Amino acid sequence: MSGFCPELSGDVREVREWVRTFARDVIRPAGAEWDEREETPWPVIQEAAKIGLYSLDFFATQWFEESGLALPVAFEEIFWGDAGIGLSIVGTGLAAAALASNGTPEQMGEWLPQMFGTENDVKLGAFCASEPDAGSDVGAIRTRAERDPSGDWILNGVKTWATNGGIANVHVVVASVDPALGTRGQASFVIPPGTPGLSMGQKFKKHGIRASHTAEVVLDQVRVPAACLLGGQEKLESRLARVRNGERSGEQAAMRTFETTRPSVAAMAVGIARAGYEYARDYATEREQFGRKIGENQAIAFLLADMATRVDMARLLTWRAAWMARKGRQFEQAEGSMSKLVAGETAVWVTEQAIQILGGAGYTRDHPVERFHRDAKIYTIFEGTSEIQRLIIGRAVTGLPVR
Ligand SMILES: Cc1cc2nc3c(=O)[nH]c(=O)nc-3n(C[C@H](O)[C@H](O)[C@H](O)COP(=O)(O)OP(=O)(O)OC[C@H]3O[C@@H](n4cnc5c(N)ncnc54)[C@H](O)[C@@H]3O)c2cc1C
Repeated sequence: MSGFCPELSGDVREVREWVRTFARDVIRPAGAEWDEREETPWPVIQEAAKIGLYSLDFFATQWFEESGLALPVAFEEIFWGDAGIGLSIVGTGLAAAALASNGTPEQMGEWLPQMFGTENDVKLGAFCASEPDAGSDVGAIRTRAERDPSGDWILNGVKTWATNGGIANVHVVVASVDPALGTRGQASFVIPPGTPGLSMGQKFKKHGIRASHTAEVVLDQVRVPAACLLGGQEKLESRLARVRNGERSGEQAAMRTFETTRPSVAAMAVGIARAGYEYARDYATEREQFGRKIGENQAIAFLLADMATRVDMARLLTWRAAWMARKGRQFEQAEGSMSKLVAGETAVWVTEQAIQILGGAGYTRDHPVERFHRDAKIYTIFEGTSEIQRLIIGRAVTGLPVR
């Protein structure tokens, strides 16, 4: 990979130190409490807003940082602190990325600031694509957007698994405008704050990342003005006309954009994996059995060696993909998916080994490794399951329509 250099610039190292301090002093100490409470950790988000970590400015600056490594570095630190709180802090950033990849500059200017709110009045954003019958199969989305004679759009449907769903100020919703065209007949809409007809359905009680709010979002005759169609009417109409004429719709380009956000998700998993590895390493150099440190046994030291190696492997794949995305290099081998696949599975494996190294203590809530393990599991499921990542990589490396 010519040009890729995993050496961090002075600016990125500074960001890392700044976020690391916040993760160590504010996020990590609050992790167990908000996991038990299973509530959005508003006071912690507020603290992050006060220092500028939860802000549009921070996300935008790091997103455009020239090496592409700033965002994964920052995310690793946040999620090293705690993944549930971490997702509460960066969930809006993912919704913002969905808006930015489809919206016009005017739409970004209007809605992105409203997603974050201000330091004294923090707000959230939510991205709603998944539905009860459309998870991995995004083409099965049934939420319908229809234009009425006034020019407004009317949305009806049920979204599920939405991070910040129903409690966000701004929701970005993917809906079908022409069901006959599958994914190519879909469009994204902004639902402004307080729009009648949008409500929260069930809030899910989860295995992990319990401080992050996940809920259904019900859309019942939700009326939004034409200006809420992301990208605008003209762009949508010319895209639909191309699809109906059997021409390329640009859908592949959209899929490539999606690939570029995967390294950020991978970086979250790297943070959890590192947290588990470090905790187990420190424990193994303290705990004694049979008159010696448990880390003196090869069985434990070799495990720690593999854990450390796999964390670095996941980070390097993540940084490579983030660098490629930033430099506009095409993902020839689905490198974005590779990073998400390896980081997600590494986080699950490493945190499970961490429990093993702590023995009975690791299985209790007196230590954070059982929480790290519960939190890690979502990284093989959301933002594309491990199977879907393998499908994408399999297709890229064989050139065959693998299914
Ligand atoms: C905590 C949490 C937060 C989330 N946040 C959001 C959010 O903010 N916004 C949003 O839109 N969505 C969100 N999601 C949804 C998430 O992206 C989906 O859960 C995920 O895409 C999988 O869809 P599914 O759950 O319907 O599983 P399914 O698609 O039903 O998959 C079930 C199993 O079948 C496998 N499978 C499916 N198809 C294939 C295939 N072709 N080949 C091989 N195996 C296959 C899958 O890999 C999986 O193992 C979230 C989910 C969770 C749990």
